[in-house]
Amino acid sequence: MGHQGSNYQAGRWTVDATSPKAFLGAELGLTGSELSLGFLARGTGNTFVHSHKRNEEVYIVVSGCGLMHVDGEEFALEAGSVVRVAGPGKRALKATDDADLVYYCVQADANSLKQATADDGVLEKHPTSWLPA
Ligand code: ZN
Repeated sequence: MGHQGSNYQAGRWTVDATSPKAFLGAELGLTGSELSLGFLARGTGNTFVHSHKRNEEVYIVVSGCGLMHVDGEEFALEAGSVVRVAGPGKRALKATDDADLVYYCVQADANSLKQATADDGVLEKHPTSWLPA
């Protein structure tokens, strides 16, 4: 863990062939979602297909290129790709032969969001090193 305070936790995590998955929910104290960082070495893929009973997932590719399989359809992934998969979706990932694939996966209880950022955000008069009070 890099930094933490009463209202935040922050860190930097990496994954590689020897430590290919990092679950960050507990590390960060998440209360409404799980977040994992995943690594697939070039030319390798998940060794299983999975779905979820109630959670939806969002896959966010950080680097590399890959292939996503959902319910029999397959499509290419690259850095910046974002894919949402509903719970029942049968999914698996594979890295292409020429690049390792690194991605985040956010997992949250489907239909649990009661409002969105624009309604929840509160503007605060609070000084920072770059903003006046
Ligand atoms: Zn999953």
